[in-house]
Amino acid sequence: MKKQRLMQTGLIVVILIAVGLIARQLKSRQDTIEILKNFELVLVDTQANKVFKKTVSAKEPLEYPMESPFSEGKNAYPVFQCVNDGTIFAFDMPSAKDLENVPLQDPQKDPRVPKCPVCNGFMVKVPELPKGQKSMDIPGPVKIVKPSL
Ligand SMILES: [Zn+2]
Repeated sequence: MKKQRLMQTGLIVVILIAVGLIARQLKSRQDTIEILKNFELVLVDTQANKVFKKTVSAKEPLEYPMESPFSEGKNAYPVFQCVNDGTIFAFDMPSAKDLENVPLQDPQKDPRVPKCPVCNGFMVKVPELPKGQKSMDIPGPVKIVKPSL
């Protein structure tokens, strides 16, 4: 009798652990779905002179300029920083539709490639925000680079 009860208790513990593991797995799966649904963009507000992170839904079409929390209207563009001279600039990213018939080509000429407005170089990176911060001020005016299509 005593042994049976001990086994029952043991069984309940095993079930509880299993339920906990499944719940944890479900939660991490949920997080993965969230990441697929939303992603973070680094943008620059060309009115407020601010670089900031914005979480957007993968379902929304990406159209620039985008709304920014720092100014009225649509003033936010993807932001890049030149590796050579440190220039931070806005890139008026062409839409997928605009690029439909543009063949892949030399990066010097390709409109998909953001180029520095100062040195015309295409060695650029996304500027890093200070750790733990969602936005930072940058000196303006921020140049808006428009690719020639
Ligand atoms: Zn440059």
